[in-house]
Amino acid sequence: MVHNKHIYLDHAATTPIHPDVLETMLPFFGFHYGNASSFYSFGRKSKQAIEEARGKVAALIGVEPSEIIFTSGGTEANNLAIQGTIFANVHRGRHIITSAIEHPAVLSVCSYLEQRGFRVSYLPVDSYGIVKVADVKAAISNDTIFITIMHANNEIGNLQPIAEIGAIAKEHGIIFHTDAVQSVGKIPVNVSKLKVDLMSISAHKIYGPKGMGALWVKSGTRIAPLLYGGRQEMKIRPGTENVSAIVGFGKASEIAAATLKENLPHLRYLRDRLEQSISKRIPSARINGHPQKRLPHILSVSFESLESLSIIANLDVHGVYASGGAACTTGMIEPSHVLMAMKIPPEMALGTVRFSFGWENTGRDVDYTVDILEKSVGRLYKFYQKIPEETGIITFHEIDHAKAAENILQNTHFQFSLIATPQHIRQAYCCHVALGHKCADQDQISTLLRKNGIEIADTHRISRPLRDKLPKIRKTHSGKRHQQLK
Ligand code: PLP
Repeated sequence: MVHNKHIYLDHAATTPIHPDVLETMLPFFGFHYGNASSFYSFGRKSKQAIEEARGKVAALIGVEPSEIIFTSGGTEANNLAIQGTIFANVHRGRHIITSAIEHPAVLSVCSYLEQRGFRVSYLPVDSYGIVKVADVKAAISNDTIFITIMHANNEIGNLQPIAEIGAIAKEHGIIFHTDAVQSVGKIPVNVSKLKVDLMSISAHKIYGPKGMGALWVKSGTRIAPLLYGGRQEMKIRPGTENVSAIVGFGKASEIAAATLKENLPHLRYLRDRLEQSISKRIPSARINGHPQKRLPHILSVSFESLESLSIIANLDVHGVYASGGAACTTGMIEPSHVLMAMKIPPEMALGTVRFSFGWENTGRDVDYTVDILEKSVGRLYKFYQKIPEETGIITFHEIDHAKAAENILQNTHFQFSLIATPQHIRQAYCCHVALGHKCADQDQISTLLRKNGIEIADTHRISRPLRDKLPKIRKTHSGKRHQQLK
C-alpha cells in the first residue's frame, strides 16, 4: 500500500463492529448453535440469549421488549411497517402520506403500493430538507390510514418534527411510522415523546452486525406479516432466528445506550470542526441542512461545479472514506432525490459529499481530511478550468498506482488531477480512480509513469469529460449555507 491511513468517515453507511459486540456474538457462531425453538436446554440457551437481546434493544428506545420484532435490517423493518400495517388496515382506507426525502426502503415500498392501487402523497421539504407540519395536516384525507416520515435523513442528517406530526396523526387516528435507522444510538430517541406507533432501527449503524434490525410495534397496533411460516417473532416475522446477529444487536444497543452521553458531544465536536475548517478554507463549499435540527455526526457539503465521485476518489487515494450525494445510474450523473427535493441547484448537488463520524474518529482525522480536501478540490478546479475540449484519461489496475502517479506528477509542469474513472470507459480490470490530463501531454505522461514503474491499464482521449454533464463553472462564492429558497 502506498498510504497507510484509514480514516473512515462514512458511519451513516455502516459502522465497524464494536469489539465487545464481536466477542458477544462469537460463541453463537460456535458452540451455542441450538435452535431457539427447541424444547431442550441447549436450544433454550439460544432463546434466552434472544430475549436478553430484545430487552437491550427495547431499553435503547424506551419500549417494552414484547413490542420488538427482529428483522433482517432497516429495509425489512420499513417494508414490514408499511406493507404490514397497510394490509392489516386496508378496510380503513387506501391513502398513505410520506415525504420526498425518505430512504429508498420507504420510497420504493410506496411506489410498489401505488401500483397496487394505493394513493401516496409525497410531501415536499424546505431548503433545509424539513417537512412542514402544516403540509402533513393539509394532506390528510378521509381515507388516510398511514403516515411514514423518517426521523433523521441519511444524506443530510436533518431531523424532522416527528413529535408534532405524531400529535396530528393521533388526532386523526392515523397510524404513524418513523424510520429511525440513522438517529437511534446517536441522539436520545424515546418513542413515547415522538408519538409514533412503529419505528425501524438497524444494527449496523450502531456498531452491530449487518443484516440485523428491528421494528418496534406499539402494542395494540394491527400489523400483518409479510412472510408466513413458523411461530417465531410472534408469527409476524417467522423463520429460525439469526441468534448471533440478534445477540450482537443487543450488545450494540447496550453499548450505544451506555455511551451516548459521552459520544454525542464528541461527534458534534468533530462535525463542527470539519464544518468550520471547510467553510474557512474552501470558499466554494456550502453546507447543507439545518444548522440546529440535525444529527451530531453527519455533515453534507456541496462543492460547486465539481463532481462528488472525483472528490471521493481523491480522498480515497489518501485513505479517507466518505460518500457522495449523487447517483450514477445510466451513465448520467444525477443528484440524489434528497438534494433535488431540497432544491439544491444541480451545480451544487452533483458535487455533494457526506462525511459521517463515529466515536473512534479524532480531531486529527478531521484536520488531515481537510488538508486532503483542500488540495484535491483546488486541483480539480484547476483541471476543469485549464483542460480544453478533449481530455486525456489514464486508467490504472489499482488505486495505489493512481496515488503513485499523482506523487510523480505533482513536481512536474503537467496539468492533471485524479478523477473518478468515467463510467463509460471503466473496465472490470481498471480501478475507480483515473488520471485526467491534457490530451497533448498523454504520450509524455504515459512514458514518465511507465519509466517510474507505474502500470497503466489503458489510455483514453475523451471529448469533453464528466464536467460536460455538469453545469458551467461559476464564480465561487462564500455563502456558507444554503438559505431558504423562495
Ligand atoms: N433507512 C435509512 C434512513 C437508512 O439510512 C438505511 C441504510 O442506509 C436503511 C433504512 C436501510 O437499513 P439496512 O441497511 O439495515 O437495510
